[in-house]
Amino acid sequence: MADIAVIGGGAAGAAAFGELLASYEAGTVHWIVGQQAPGRGVAYATKDDRHLLNVRASGMGVFAEHGEDFIQHASRQLGQVKGTDFLPRRIFGDFIQAQVGARIDAARRLGRSFRIYPENAHEVLARGEGGYAVRVGEQRWLDVGHVVLAVGALAQRPLRTVSHAALESGAYELDPWRLDRHVHAPRRVLVIGTGLTAVDTLLSAAERWPHAELVAVSRHGLWPFTHSALPLATYARQQALNEALLACDGVAPMLRLVRAAFDDATETDWRSIVDGLRPMNALLWQRLSHARRRQFLQHARWVWEASRHRMAPASGQAIHQLEEEGRLQVLAARVLEVDGTAPLQVTLRERATQLVSKLEADLVVQATGLDTAVAYGADPLLSQLLRDGLAVADPLQLGVLAQADGQLVGASGAPQPGLHAIGSLLRGNLWECTAMPEIRATAHRLALQLSASRATSYEDVGELP
Ligand SMILES: Cc1cc2nc3c(=O)[nH]c(=O)nc-3n(C[C@H](O)[C@H](O)[C@H](O)COP(=O)(O)OP(=O)(O)OC[C@H]3O[C@@H](n4cnc5c(N)ncnc54)[C@H](O)[C@@H]3O)c2cc1C
Repeated sequence: MADIAVIGGGAAGAAAFGELLASYEAGTVHWIVGQQAPGRGVAYATKDDRHLLNVRASGMGVFAEHGEDFIQHASRQLGQVKGTDFLPRRIFGDFIQAQVGARIDAARRLGRSFRIYPENAHEVLARGEGGYAVRVGEQRWLDVGHVVLAVGALAQRPLRTVSHAALESGAYELDPWRLDRHVHAPRRVLVIGTGLTAVDTLLSAAERWPHAELVAVSRHGLWPFTHSALPLATYARQQALNEALLACDGVAPMLRLVRAAFDDATETDWRSIVDGLRPMNALLWQRLSHARRRQFLQHARWVWEASRHRMAPASGQAIHQLEEEGRLQVLAARVLEVDGTAPLQVTLRERATQLVSKLEADLVVQATGLDTAVAYGADPLLSQLLRDGLAVADPLQLGVLAQADGQLVGASGAPQPGLHAIGSLLRGNLWECTAMPEIRATAHRLALQLSASRATSYEDVGELP
């Protein structure tokens, strides 16, 4: 028995499933996709074409070997598209589905065995004789040799400062992608967060409620920087910088080196230097002790996130235009409390002055980014894995402990054979592992590793639901 279960129906699950369909011959590949449209996940389920990719079209793909180019696919929908464009995320969602569909057709022709389940996986139990039993839906159990967890980030938990009354009022929205649930036009919308998700939320809110006043609040009140319209020249001394960073001991000397490179590179845009660190990010992160990672998270994360995860130029223009028109105000403040019913009362402490003030908002949207604190979340599957000692929470709450190749580390401290993760659960280990370029490379490596690991029985072709 060497079946594989891929759990999670987002882009990472799609990449892992498609790669396994192409290479895995030793058993059935089961894809447990949950109740959403398979392949799209959180990022690519949006129907709002103001929600743009933050990677140029030429950088987007699902599989390591591109079956069909995303640019060609997008051109068929949008007309002429350039590789340097930042396209609507919806189009990439369509592309993922088309790509997985093509892999399914090819797998059928090859007689490969697979099944897709539009249900959640609720439990993964270790079997005494090796491998795992996976419970899908209420009743069905699958016996598999390997499990790939591609479950993305956790569902948002309310901030600790939000009262029960506020949560119950219906005026506090935990899911920034569900503004459509609010039918009455609010006079003021307050978005907690100023990252990429907050930007999309504000653009949707501005369109949906043209008369609403918009407020965005985060500790530093810093928007993501924007991408340049065209790709940038690379920094001539990038390799030397990356090597020097690898030799650094600690976060502060690393930041000093990067700053010195900004000063040195008078001919080069600073964004090119940040992008040039990409191949090194995981390695640099892995070299930091937990104490130093904590330091980075406390002191440098906010500026790293804004510099590294930049927004498309059109999104930046739209946000700055809203500010110039006086419709959008951004505050650097800490949210001390959200209370009341409708309107909600939001208590803030302004960063610069430490003054405490109150703001009323008819709708408050929490857009605070990825939550991977599995020990505090209420996800049934992850909680069960932690309880059974098959997974261990990362000490900085950045997902689960894992080896460099994504194999989970169990409570015994040993690698958990056959149990792998891909995507945001691995942030503790890899730090930057949530964007498509990293996801598709990881999915490809994992599929090759699993395909090479063992070849045993061969089962019949499964039926699509
Ligand atoms: C708003 C946004 C914009 C982004 N834009 C870009 C971009 O432009 N370019 C880029 O490269 N990256 C982008 N990213 C990064 C993005 O995280 C990845 O590209 C990718 O979408 C991550 O997919 P995922 O499958 O890991 O997670 P998710 O999209 O979260 O998918 C996980 C899926 O697993 C399902 N699931 C969870 N638990 C279970 C279970 N027990 N059983 C079954 N199913 C389960 C969930 O319901 C969900 O559908 C963006 C991310 C966000 C949030």
